[in-house]
Amino acid sequence: MTDRSAPAPAPALGPASTSQPLPEPVVGPPVPGPPVPGQLTFQAPRRGKPPRHLADLAPAERTEAVQALGHKGFRAKQLSTHYFERLVESPAEMTDLPKTIRDDLVRDLLPPLLTPVVQRLADDGRTIKSVWRLHDGAIVESVLMRYPHRVTICVSSQAGCGMNCPFCATGQAGLTRNMSAGEIVEQVVSAARLLRRGELAGEGSSDEAASPLRVSNVVFMGMGEALANYKAAIGAIRRLTDPAPDGLGMSARGIVMSTVGLVPGIDKLATEGIPVTLALSLHAPDDELRNELVPINTRWSVDEALDAAYRYYEVTGRRVSIEYALIKDINDQAWRAELLGRKLTSRGRGWVHVNPIPLNPTPGSKWTASRPGVEQQFVERLRAAGIPTTIRDTRGQDIDGACGQLAASTA
Ligand code: SF4
Repeated sequence: MTDRSAPAPAPALGPASTSQPLPEPVVGPPVPGPPVPGQLTFQAPRRGKPPRHLADLAPAERTEAVQALGHKGFRAKQLSTHYFERLVESPAEMTDLPKTIRDDLVRDLLPPLLTPVVQRLADDGRTIKSVWRLHDGAIVESVLMRYPHRVTICVSSQAGCGMNCPFCATGQAGLTRNMSAGEIVEQVVSAARLLRRGELAGEGSSDEAASPLRVSNVVFMGMGEALANYKAAIGAIRRLTDPAPDGLGMSARGIVMSTVGLVPGIDKLATEGIPVTLALSLHAPDDELRNELVPINTRWSVDEALDAAYRYYEVTGRRVSIEYALIKDINDQAWRAELLGRKLTSRGRGWVHVNPIPLNPTPGSKWTASRPGVEQQFVERLRAAGIPTTIRDTRGQDIDGACGQLAASTA
């Protein structure tokens, strides 16, 4: 990706512009060192909580929060309209709120959560990767991508990750902390504002394609294992899908929850009544290899993860995606494609789709992407078994592929 040379104009709400002096980095509590191979971290290190934000709260909680500040409850709806529906960037735009009330509400319920560190462009400006600093100095990323007829943002749900997949840069650095629902949602709102400003290049040349669109898809494939931060992740999903002005009014069908296979989290997600798409990062069909590639497999095996994915399909009716990063001479053998095909078809037909992804290698890693011919054979064996299979687009160095893949180039 190339460094972004023309930063966005300064908004007064939400992220500050990179054209203004950035605040001094906030040094948070010491972060534990990198995990040892195979170590899993479920408990996020204790750090100062991010400031409370409107997007952390359900609509009824917003009303209570506004009343607790001494204002009329209906102000909560006005504030939600400004944040979720109008995407306002400056409190001055909230002209229906008297100034003293506005100042009060903005200070308490719309604190800045993300400070831009750097933006990089790829794919002729159709992909923008944003690196953000959180209130305590933790760093996360999000990536915005324009495709024909859709705009997708890949969001982070944790600073770092405790799942320790050895091929993933994020996992190697360990878990810094869980993000709040507000911090997750703010990545999407910031992207929506950026789109409205026309800063994401258009796809194709037609006016329709080049005009700003809404963010249509959100994928939880940035930093972190979202199901290990369940409460905030489901809170964010509710804010994304609640109809405006209570939320962004997105379709659940446009949201992808990626997981390495936290079985209780998958089962819980199935009961929420929000049929998002589940993406299971499998990467190996056998326990021996998956124990190494995806250490959570020592807790929940391949079969247990696939059973949970199938249950998710049964409850929600949503076809599950299996993500499979193809790693040269490690997991790309013909017999593994056949084993994967058997494991999927033995559970039923039509419930699953496989997305092989050429590995985006971490600098210094011993692993690299499979050769294209091997990749194609892997795909064909799965298709021969009757499994719909599509090689993932490698936009912006494979940032739309699987969780953690985008973290390799954080700097
Ligand atoms: S691949 Fe995903 S789950 Fe595994 S360490 Fe990286 S971010 Fe975490």
